[in-house]
This record gives sequence, C-alpha cells and structure tokens, in this order.
Amino acid sequence: MDHRQYEEWLLSDEPLKSDQSQSLKKHLYNCEACSALEIAWRQVSDSFDTSGMVAPAPGFVNRWQDRLDADIARRHRRQSWLIIGLNVFIAAILFVLLAAQIFPAL
Ligand SMILES: [Zn+2]
Repeated sequence: MDHRQYEEWLLSDEPLKSDQSQSLKKHLYNCEACSALEIAWRQVSDSFDTSGMVAPAPGFVNRWQDRLDADIARRHRRQSWLIIGLNVFIAAILFVLLAAQIFPAL
C-alpha cells in the first residue's frame, strides 16, 4: 500500500476536498502507520499552538547592529587592501616597463 499521498494530505496545511478527506479517513482507519503519524502530527501541532513566542535576549538588537557594523567595516578594510594591492602591482609593472625602456638607452 502506498502511504505517500496520505502522508502528504496529513501534513499539508491546505484543506482537503471532500473525496480526499473521506479517502484519508478510510485509510487512517485501516493503516496503523498513518494513524500513528496523524496522532504524532496533531500533538506537534498542538504544541506549536499552545507554546508562546520566545522573546529575544535583552540587547539583541544592539548586539546584532554592532556585529553588522563590524562586518561592514571588515569588508571595507578588505576592499581597501585589495585596491591598494592592485595599485602596487600595476605600479610595479609600470616601473619594470619604464626601466626596460630606460636601461637599454644607457
Ligand atoms: Zn498508511
């Protein structure tokens, strides 16, 4: 017996059509595994419904903002060093090319 369709119907948030609902009820009556899944899912769903929202720890927004600022500053420093390194590399190449032009003339 293929239980996949019934499991999807059990775990779905979408309302079932009447024929689907009847087919599911009939299957749950005959299938121990899907019936156990339905009971477990109902318990989990009830737990979600009855448990309250957990508030973040005090100062969460400030810590998050500080961390974001630090990440942005680190990214800017990394980009600055990359640009400096690229400029030094280009200057070195230009120096070598200039030296190659000057030294053969001497
Ligand atoms: Zn089943």
